Amino acid sequence: MADCLFCKIIAGEIPSTKVYENDAVYAFRDINPMAPTHVLIVPKTHVASVDEINADNSASVACIFEVIPKIAAAEGLANGYRVITNCGADGCQSVKHLHFHLLGGKKLSEKLD
Ligand code: 5GP
Ligand code: ZN
Repeated sequence: MADCLFCKIIAGEIPSTKVYENDAVYAFRDINPMAPTHVLIVPKTHVASVDEINADNSASVACIFEVIPKIAAAEGLANGYRVITNCGADGCQSVKHLHFHLLGGKKLSEKLD
């Protein structure tokens, strides 16, 4: 999608620190990390949010969840980690391209809201 920040990052038009890539998925470090490891994992095909997941694009979401344990292992997150996705206005989603935050490397807050 022409006007999408993460589509531009996937295309290499905006620089990012790549962590992992395959045919369906791109993963890169968050520019404003909330934990020692803060990686964003996105489908290469534009999907706006969880609200837009359907039978036509859910394979890329499954692929993201296959990739997450690989990234977690590579990042040394043997003690655990958190995966979050924000959706829509109440979910405080700021970038309208589906992404999963992988957070770890410290004891995370129990508070989720
Ligand atoms: P959201 O609030 O939509 O769940 O998360 C968007 C995330 O994207 C935020 O954690 C923010 O720091 C990150 N972000 C925003 N712009 C950029 C950017 O240009 N590069 C990278 N690497 N991360 C970004
Ligand atoms: Zn996009």
